[in-house]
Amino acid sequence: MFKALYVEKTETGQQVTLRELAEADLPEGDVTIRVQWSSLNYKDALALTGKGPIIRNWPMVPGIDLAGKVEASTHPAVLVGQDVIVTGHGLGESRWGGFAQLARVPGLWALPQPLGLNGRQVMALGTAGFTAMLCVQALQREGVEPASGPVLVTGASGGVGSVAIMLLSRLGYQVVAVTGRLEEQPYLHSLGAADVLPRAHFTTPSRPLEKARWAGAVDVVGGQVLASVCASMRPQGVVTACGLAGGMDFPATVAPFILRGVTLVGIDSVQCPRRERQEAWARLAELINPSQLDDMVREIDLAEAPQAADMLLAGHVRGRLVVRIP
Ligand code: NDP
Repeated sequence: MFKALYVEKTETGQQVTLRELAEADLPEGDVTIRVQWSSLNYKDALALTGKGPIIRNWPMVPGIDLAGKVEASTHPAVLVGQDVIVTGHGLGESRWGGFAQLARVPGLWALPQPLGLNGRQVMALGTAGFTAMLCVQALQREGVEPASGPVLVTGASGGVGSVAIMLLSRLGYQVVAVTGRLEEQPYLHSLGAADVLPRAHFTTPSRPLEKARWAGAVDVVGGQVLASVCASMRPQGVVTACGLAGGMDFPATVAPFILRGVTLVGIDSVQCPRRERQEAWARLAELINPSQLDDMVREIDLAEAPQAADMLLAGHVRGRLVVRIP
């Protein structure tokens, strides 16, 4: 038997319970993992609260991230006793995920725990940190360098935003953080932000082109904020779009793209190929300062996750929530 958060459909919506399940209830798969750490991402919060259509198979054990030890494996590349991580791939969406003491996944999804990071640290980063790394790598690939000019990070106090600031500042970029919580300025400066701007600067409809200010941007918000960011990019600027915390729409014009050569790069962490995943995790392990990471993490247990999900969607969580699995 093992403990798991379990989400079932009801006539009025859904119900989340912490319950005991049998190992035989686990889905098919060649690798069984004793989960030690997970994390609470925006997507997990949508799944736990039912506020977004994340769950695609019912009932579901949510949790898009997990770190743990391999308990059984019939996959040649995954060894019993090995420390592994799994993120994305539909974990916690179409496939039972990390909010449980046991998980079973296809062996190809399991990556060796990145060298230099322990399970808690990997989950402190989790999908949010991994996505921040993918955004930074995309900026670099598209030619944005520290000398190109300031780089904007929206949703700065959240998970993706916080890690993006840490990484960019570590790489020598001048980072400008955009937040709806100006009281978090000291925190954002401690992560490495040179300046902090209020979100309100980006939430009113922008002209097709605004003053050209940013060489690069990491946007987790979408909606009007993403449109305003695009309108204020410098010529040849690069925007990475990974989130929708402020909305799914994109009320923009083509002006930044055809008159300033701006590039909009979409980031998808779920289906990222294995090799790129390993590279991104290796770079994260290299660039992250563990004590800075500790400062942006709060630890919760499985039973606290539903309430924490409400807090996260209300915009009250700073940095990352790591979930301790007993
Ligand atoms: P968090 O909740 O940790 O951070 C989101 C931040 O966005 C908040 O902290 C807040 O920052 C800001 N925000 C919240 N609500 C609003 C709003 N209504 N309008 C504008 N800004 C808002 O979430 P994550 O960092 O984990 O994820 C951020 C986004 O990225 C989510 O949409 C998530 O689904 C997406 N994502 C996408 C991935 C992909 O593969 N494409 C992978 C991971 C995440 P502040 O208070 O500082 O303004």
